[in-house]
Amino acid sequence: MAERMLKFTTTPRVTPSKRAAQARTGDFHEIYADFIDAKAREQSARCSQCGIPFCQTHCPLHNNIPDWLRMTAEGRLEEAYALSQATNAMPEICGRICPQDRLCEGSCTIEQSGHGTVTIGAVERYLTDKAWEEGWVQPLRAGPDRGKSVGVIGAGPAGLAAAERLREQGYAVTVYDRHDRAGGLLIYGIPGFKLEKEVVARRTRRLAEGGIEFRLNFEVGRDASLADLREAHDAVLIATGVYAARDLAVPGAGSTGVIAALDFLIASNRQGMGDAVPDFDSGALNAAGRDVVVVGGGDTAMDCVRTAVRQGATSVTCLYRRDRENMPGSAREVAHAEEEGVVFEWLAAPRAVAGEAEQARGVRAARMRLGPPDSSGRSAPEEVEGADFDLPATLVIKALGFDPEDLPAAFVAPDLAVSRWGTVKADVRNLQTSLPGVFAAGDIVRGASLVVWAIRDGMDAADAIDRHLSQPALMAAE
Ligand SMILES: Cc1cc2nc3c(=O)[nH]c(=O)nc-3n(C[C@H](O)[C@H](O)[C@H](O)COP(=O)(O)OP(=O)(O)OC[C@H]3O[C@@H](n4cnc5c(N)ncnc54)[C@H](O)[C@@H]3O)c2cc1C
Ligand code: SF4
Repeated sequence: MAERMLKFTTTPRVTPSKRAAQARTGDFHEIYADFIDAKAREQSARCSQCGIPFCQTHCPLHNNIPDWLRMTAEGRLEEAYALSQATNAMPEICGRICPQDRLCEGSCTIEQSGHGTVTIGAVERYLTDKAWEEGWVQPLRAGPDRGKSVGVIGAGPAGLAAAERLREQGYAVTVYDRHDRAGGLLIYGIPGFKLEKEVVARRTRRLAEGGIEFRLNFEVGRDASLADLREAHDAVLIATGVYAARDLAVPGAGSTGVIAALDFLIASNRQGMGDAVPDFDSGALNAAGRDVVVVGGGDTAMDCVRTAVRQGATSVTCLYRRDRENMPGSAREVAHAEEEGVVFEWLAAPRAVAGEAEQARGVRAARMRLGPPDSSGRSAPEEVEGADFDLPATLVIKALGFDPEDLPAAFVAPDLAVSRWGTVKADVRNLQTSLPGVFAAGDIVRGASLVVWAIRDGMDAADAIDRHLSQPALMAAE
């Protein structure tokens, strides 16, 4: 019998079971189990079906959340899945790694009334995992041949979401990526304990089987210029993400043992996927047996501290210059890290890396306090005089954020307009860049952001490219 809705007053919020910290830090598998069927139905039935679904408004994809929660509660799982995937190219991935507390769940009405949010992300993940198991995920079917091709630079979530939609619209699509696997940061940035790699790989297999051509180990700028790609395709999408790591500007920052976060995470992910990684084997990018200090307070820093724990670090400390309330990373990830033994030094900033014979041995840190707001409106951290302290550290991981690379130079495309931060300028209405027929989406336009926004941008860019290539003038020029 169908579950009735509005059960939030009688049914407490429950998340899928989470492995105990001691058990989960011995491997890189995901920490949450999937919902069992009965729990997914029960938790979906907590939804209040409110007239104005703020969850939907605050989901960047405007997923039709109340309706697929109701269908789940009623046991209409295949329909619920069909509805959830209609607006999202990767629902099981968003269900796993969206910071729901800041998006859909953060706006859930019953959360506002103190009953605890509906577990929207966990149900979304459950529905699509179930769909893969049951064979409800349909092969990608290309639309009627449009006789035109699109080149997509970057196989991250923005590029993949765009490629899928363009193929459905009947375009020949080639995705170029400088890595040897598709997935972008889903494969090489985000660790397996948040997102297992097979979850990403089965998505990209479906795209390849649907006729999307992947040209991997292909770096635009090295293997072809942007002009070459414009020549080869009717339209081009730039979805290259942001990869220029911000540096640590303190004495000793050049010591051996001071490494970039993404180098560390890529090495760990590659090693987990069975690749030969000499810098991991040599210890250069391996935290085993070391005192580790991670500098930064975003998602990347959280992934580094938790990776270091799993690699067998002796101690792991996170230094962040603001306080817990003002950190950019997800509160849920901080809680996981604390459970796993990570020590957080809030209101602390590195002053110097100390070492012997060029090898890092420790970090001297300044104690900070929050002063008046700066031009960004956030409280500016200020040093507390005479409160410096020392931490042992033979591995210091810089997780200070990312800026765009210099694309006009790298792509040999001086006319490609970029903002003063280096992000590619794309028209808000149609995502077209300063170069006709060249579009841009994802982090390279927004700056470092979220997977769900990259998916949204990729889908929007595909529609914009379709409109562009459907213009009568361009059709006549065929
Ligand atoms: C460590 C880490 C953890 C994160 N955790 C989360 C999280 O938990 N939840 C969340 O929502 N977001 C998270 N993010 C952010 C999220 O991963 C990004 O916002 C998202 O991946 C951006 O998608 P994208 O497609 O724009 O770029 P990317 O995923 O960066 O993909 C860009 C692709 O372009 C390729 N490329 C770049 N230059 C070239 C070139 N010249 N030629 C060919 N190919 C090129 C790259 O190899 C890459 O595959 C995290 C980011 C990091 C770094
Ligand atoms: S895509 Fe992200 S924000 Fe939207 S419903 Fe799913 S988990 Fe929530």
